[in-house]
Amino acid sequence: MDKAARAPERAAQQAPPIEVSPEWAAAQDALAADSGLALLLVEGHQPPSLHISNNNSICRAFQTSPTHAHRCDPFCGEAFDRAMSAKGKTDYRCHAGLQCFAAPASREDEKPLAVIGGRAFLRSADYRALAERIRTGDLTDLLSAELFRNVVFASQQDLDELASRVAEAASVQLKFAPELVEKVKSKPKSDEKVKTDSSKSAPDKTSVESAETHADAAEPQGEVQAAPRVRNFTSGSTFSEACAAAVNSLQSAHGLKSLALMFRSDDQFHPLCVTGNFKTKPPRITLRANEIKLLQAATHRDSIAVPAGGRTSSKHEDAAELFPLVINEEIKGALLVGDKNLSDEQRQALSAFCREIAMPLEMLRLREELERRMRAATHLQAFNEIVNTAQPDDAYASILRHSTDLLRAERSSLLLYDERANELSVKAAVGPRADVTRETRMRLGEGVAGSVLREGRPVVVHEVGAGNSWHPAPAERSYKTSSFISYPIIIGGRKVGVLNMTDKVGGGAYDEYDLGLLEIIAPQMALAIDRAEWHQKATQFQLLSITDPLTGLLNRRYLEERLSEELERSKRQRFPMSFLMMDIDDFKNYNDQHGHQAGDLALEMTAQCLKTALRSADVAARYGGEEFSILLPQTSLSEARVIAERIRRRVERTHYPQGKEQPLGAVTVSIGISAFGPQTDTPASVIYAADQALYIAKSRGKNCVEAFEPTNTPEGEQLPGAERNAG
Ligand code: GH3
Ligand code: MG
Ligand code: MG
Repeated sequence: MDKAARAPERAAQQAPPIEVSPEWAAAQDALAADSGLALLLVEGHQPPSLHISNNNSICRAFQTSPTHAHRCDPFCGEAFDRAMSAKGKTDYRCHAGLQCFAAPASREDEKPLAVIGGRAFLRSADYRALAERIRTGDLTDLLSAELFRNVVFASQQDLDELASRVAEAASVQLKFAPELVEKVKSKPKSDEKVKTDSSKSAPDKTSVESAETHADAAEPQGEVQAAPRVRNFTSGSTFSEACAAAVNSLQSAHGLKSLALMFRSDDQFHPLCVTGNFKTKPPRITLRANEIKLLQAATHRDSIAVPAGGRTSSKHEDAAELFPLVINEEIKGALLVGDKNLSDEQRQALSAFCREIAMPLEMLRLREELERRMRAATHLQAFNEIVNTAQPDDAYASILRHSTDLLRAERSSLLLYDERANELSVKAAVGPRADVTRETRMRLGEGVAGSVLREGRPVVVHEVGAGNSWHPAPAERSYKTSSFISYPIIIGGRKVGVLNMTDKVGGGAYDEYDLGLLEIIAPQMALAIDRAEWHQKATQFQLLSITDPLTGLLNRRYLEERLSEELERSKRQRFPMSFLMMDIDDFKNYNDQHGHQAGDLALEMTAQCLKTALRSADVAARYGGEEFSILLPQTSLSEARVIAERIRRRVERTHYPQGKEQPLGAVTVSIGISAFGPQTDTPASVIYAADQALYIAKSRGKNCVEAFEPTNTPEGEQLPGAERNAG
C-alpha cells in the first residue's frame, strides 16, 4: 500500500503524525503475506494502526462494529502498552479466541512503535466457539457472509517465527538495508520448520481463504511430500468440490481405484465422494465403540490401516481400509480405500494425506454450515412474522415458500395431518404440477409422507429412482433430480404434518446438512403451523358469532361494524359507497297463511337470491325479521340502483312454494337505497336514509326500488346520526 492510498484512511483515524516509510510498509506487507498472518504497526492504542497488512475478517468485523469494537480494547487495544512495559514480545489470546503477539518495533526515527501480529486460531475448537457465539449469542448482529471470509489457522511456531522475522526487520534501518527488504520479500517459502512433525493431527496452518493467500505456502516435507497439495483443492472451492478434488488427486497420485471420503455422524460413516467400485454401491460403515477407539489410537501412528472388513455394507469389504480424518483427537471422517494389497509406503502417504486434509476440509464444512445457519436465521425471522398472518392459507403458503427457499428446492409440498380423519392432505405446494400435488391425500403410514410422520423421523433420499422402496417415483411425477427430503413436523408429541422437498436448484442431492437446516427451523415452523390452525379454528368460531343461523348471511352486528369501517374508508379515500335496505312485501300475510316454517323457507330463498345477485365485495346481512341490508363498497348511487333492481327482479322471478298466493302474485321485495354523502356519513344516518327510501318504496306500491335523495330533505334538516360540520 502506498502513502497516498493510506493518507485518507489515516486522516479518518485521528491523523497519526508518523509517516510509515515505503520500505517498512513493503517489508511488513511481504512478511504478512509470506506468513499468511496479520501484521499491524501501532504507536499506541489500536485502532488506529499506522499500517495494516493481511488483516483477517473477524478482526475487521469487530473493530468496525459500533457495538462490539470495545471488546478488542483489553487485547489488541492495549497491546502497544503491554509490549512497551514488557520491553519484548508478549503473547495473548483475544476475546474472539485469536492468538496474537505484540512486540516493540524500534524504527529509524526512534519513535516507540510496536507490531501486533498473528490474529489466527490455534485450535478449531476456538473457531467453533466463536462461530457459535456469533450465531446464537450476544454477537448475532455481527453475522454476515464476510465475517468468516478470511479465517486463519496457525501454530504457535508460525507466530513465533513471524515475530522474530519482524524483529529482524525492525532492528535495521530498512531504507539503508535494501538487501533485507529483498530477503523479506523473497524468503524461501519453506524451510526447516515446515510440517515435518508427523505426530501432529492437523496441518500447522490453514486458511479457508482464497487460493492466492496460500498459493505460495509451505510444501510438506518428508513422507508428507507424497501427498498431493492440499490447498490446491481446499482453496476457493466448496466442501463437496474439495472432497471430490481430494479423492481424485489421491487416485491419480497413488494409482488407486476405489476410494471413498466418508463423513462421520456418531457411529456412522457416510460417503461424500466415491470412486471406482464404491460408485456402484456407496459404502456405509457403522463402527462399534471399541472400533472407534481403535481408529482413534491409529491416528498417533505414522501409518494407519484399519481393515474395514465385515463392517462395510459394500461388497468390497474384505479389501477396505479406513484412514481416519482427525481434528483435535476427534474423528471427523475417514478415507476408505477399497484397493487390495496397499504397500506400507502407500499407507503412510495416505495417512499423512488424511492428516493434512482433515483441518482444511473441516474448515470448509464449518464455513458452509455457518452460511446455512445464517440463511436459516433469516427464515426463522420470517416464520415469526407468519405467526401473525391473518389467513391460514396464506400462512401455509408462506411457511412452504420460506422452507423451499431455504432448501433451494424447485418442488415442495406441505401436508397437514387431520387426526380425526387419520389423513394427511396437502395444504400448499410449490413448483410444476403443484395443482396435482394439492389433490394428494394419504393415511398415516401410507407413502413416504405417511411413513415419515408415523415414524416421526425424517428421510433424506439421495437417489429417487427404480428400486427405491421409500419412494417409487411414478413416471408422471418426473422429478428432475434424484434426491428429496421428507420431514415430519411434530409439536409437543403431536403429529402436525410433513414437509417434502424435491429437486434441489442446481441438481445436487439433498444431504444431512440440508436436514440440519430443517432441524434449525422446525420448531418455529411447527409453531407457525400450529398458530395458523388455531387461527383457522378461531375464525370458524368467530364466524358463528357474526352469522345469521337461518340464512347464513352476516348478522346485523357485523354489518354495523363493517358499515362503520367502510364509511371511514370512503371518507379517507373519497370512495363512493351505497347501502340497500330491503324488506319482503306482505310477509306477515305469507307467514299467517302458510305457517312459520314456510316463512322460514321463504327467508332462506330470499337470502339465496341476494347471494347470487351480489358481487364478492358486497356485504349482505339479515338486518332482522324479514329485513335485509346490503353494503355496496365503492359503489355509486346509480350503480346501486342497477344492483337493487337486479335483486328485486330475481326475487320476483323466483318460484317460492306459495308465492302465487301473495297479494302481488309473487313473493316480492321493496328496496330503499342510500349513498355516502355529506349528510349520510355515519352508520346511523346511512341506515336511516335507506329506511326512509324503503318507506317511500312501500308507499309507492311495493315491489320497487327507491333511492334516498338528500335534496328531498328540508333545508338544514339533519339526518339522525349525521356528523355536524364544525362551523
Ligand atoms: P310490508 O311488506 O308492508 O312491510 O308488510 P309485512 O307484512 O312484511 O310487514 P311486517 O313488518 O308487519 O311483517 C313482518 C313479518 O315477518 C312479521 C313476522 O311474521 C315475519 N317474520 C319476521 N321474522 C321472521 C322469521 O324469522 N321467520 C318467519 N317465518 N317470519 C318472520
Ligand atoms: Mg318489515
Ligand atoms: Mg315486510
